[in-house]
Amino acid sequence: MEGTSTKAKQYSRSKTRLIVVQLFLTAAFLIAMLFSGASPLLKGLVVSWSRNFYLQVGFYLAVFAGIYYLLFLGLDFYGGFLLEHKFQLSNQTVFGWLKKSIKKELLSLLLLLAAGEVLYFFLRHFPSHWWLLTTAAWLLLTIVLGKITPVLIIPLFYKCGPIANSELKERLLSLGKNCGVGIKQVFEVQLSKDTRKANAAVAGLGKGRRILLGDTLLKGYLDEEIEAIFAHELGHVRLLHSWKILGFGAVVSLTSFYLTFLVFKASLSFFAFNGIHDIAAFPLLAIILMAVGLILMPIQHGYLRHLEKQADMFAIERIQSKQSFVSAMTKLGSQNLLDPSPSRLEELLLYDHPPISKRLRYAEEKK
Ligand SMILES: [Zn+2]
Repeated sequence: MEGTSTKAKQYSRSKTRLIVVQLFLTAAFLIAMLFSGASPLLKGLVVSWSRNFYLQVGFYLAVFAGIYYLLFLGLDFYGGFLLEHKFQLSNQTVFGWLKKSIKKELLSLLLLLAAGEVLYFFLRHFPSHWWLLTTAAWLLLTIVLGKITPVLIIPLFYKCGPIANSELKERLLSLGKNCGVGIKQVFEVQLSKDTRKANAAVAGLGKGRRILLGDTLLKGYLDEEIEAIFAHELGHVRLLHSWKILGFGAVVSLTSFYLTFLVFKASLSFFAFNGIHDIAAFPLLAIILMAVGLILMPIQHGYLRHLEKQADMFAIERIQSKQSFVSAMTKLGSQNLLDPSPSRLEELLLYDHPPISKRLRYAEEKK
């Protein structure tokens, strides 16, 4: 046990270090693009390719994202492949990792282009209300993504289907019924091709939502432990967490876009851009968005941890013995190398789930 927790501490420290390094390097990259003259240079290039404003925006963002991807490929490989293998958490081959990395990049490029075109349309035509319109568009995009994630996006990366074990399936469905959650199917996601970590989640919004269990969870856990984890996911569904996260996210993004609007407008006078819709000013806009996002991140994470605690309490109340919750959490913590007790600062800034030690305490304190 001692060995696992030391290893978990080392793993989590490496992960935290990686996040900090990535943040600093991203900021450095954006600042370099802004002050070195590289951004106006790139703009000059895309203007020579097309006279259409929206094609220029699309070309600029595609080249920008391509440069960023190539520059950060090494760091991604370290975090997503080398580190995972060093801690015996990965089953991926280099080729498998690269294939997924390119697929992920293409998907995010598609999203960036769609979001970028809409954003620049608002910046160009509604310079004093773009923040409000962008929030509305963001909400719409989140709902669409919520609808298509379980059926279209997750299957792009993982094999996914109804769980095979029919006895367990019946048990989970009847637990769902007892919890007042109507579900017809439980889905299994083949995570083991990539990772040794166990995971479960609710994906999607409304009728299309699915409760997903990793095959890594289904293989290594007792039925009552799987029930405990499943009950936690049922808690998310029953307590309408997806909608609450959406509502909370709407407030957070309205705040971030409004703050970005103010700072962007004020800082533009220091540069020689042709107004807020000048694509050459994109690195400046990205730096401000990133800074505002970082400031609001602890609030968002705090809210998510609050919801996770609610789902834990829901699970502990609904299962036959809270002991199965305790053993499931203990197993999950040591299998996924979760730091049982991170520093308060790490928890406040980076954790979207309560640390395992707290989750075990919830069970202990519950009568
Ligand atoms: Zn959860």
